[in-house]
Parts: sequence; structure tokens; C-alpha cells
Amino acid sequence: MSANNKQFLFNQIIWMGISIAISLAISLILPFPISLLAIIGIFILLNYYMRKRMMRRMGMGGGGTGIFGSMSPSSIFGDSSLKYYCMSCGTQHKQVACPKCGSKMKRVGS
Ligand SMILES: [Zn+2]
Repeated sequence: MSANNKQFLFNQIIWMGISIAISLAISLILPFPISLLAIIGIFILLNYYMRKRMMRRMGMGGGGTGIFGSMSPSSIFGDSSLKYYCMSCGTQHKQVACPKCGSKMKRVGS
């Protein structure tokens, strides 16, 4: 687990605590059907705010494209859309070395 994931989980737990506290407070203050509506509304707002905050944070590390901004394009698209062919025997493979001849020379094709 990376430090980023830990931070994320920590944030999630804090937000969960905050939202539970808020919903408890609301259910104490307001009568039942209204309190439920208020809780749902606040949850939606909190969720929206959290997502916006997270997108901004993750966008800082990468190209600013939200969740995928922190990943390199090759980690998302590279393995699925690009194919690698062995330079010596032409076998298509994704390993470091060719499974057929063991050559580590590869070329990229589609
Ligand atoms: Zn080969």
C-alpha cells in the first residue's frame, strides 16, 4: 500500500466520521422525514465536495485529467492497445523477453 493510498483511506475514514456525526446531529435536531431528506442532501453535497477536492489533488500530480491524471498513459492504454513483437522472430508477446527465442529486443506495433 502506497502512502497515497493510506492518505486516501485516512481521508475516507475522517469523512465517514464527519458524515456520521452530521447525520446523528441532524436526526436529533429535526423530526424523522425531514432529517432523512436533510441527511441525504448533505451526503450528496459532501460527496460532490470530496470528489472535487480529490480530483484537484490528483490533477496536481499529472495532466489534470482527474483520476487518471496521476497515472501515465502507458499504464492505462499501453498494454491493451499496443502490441509488442519480437525483433528476431516476430512473435507477439508482452514479456520482457520473448517466450520463443528469449530475445529482449521488441518493436511496437498495433
Ligand atoms: Zn523471439
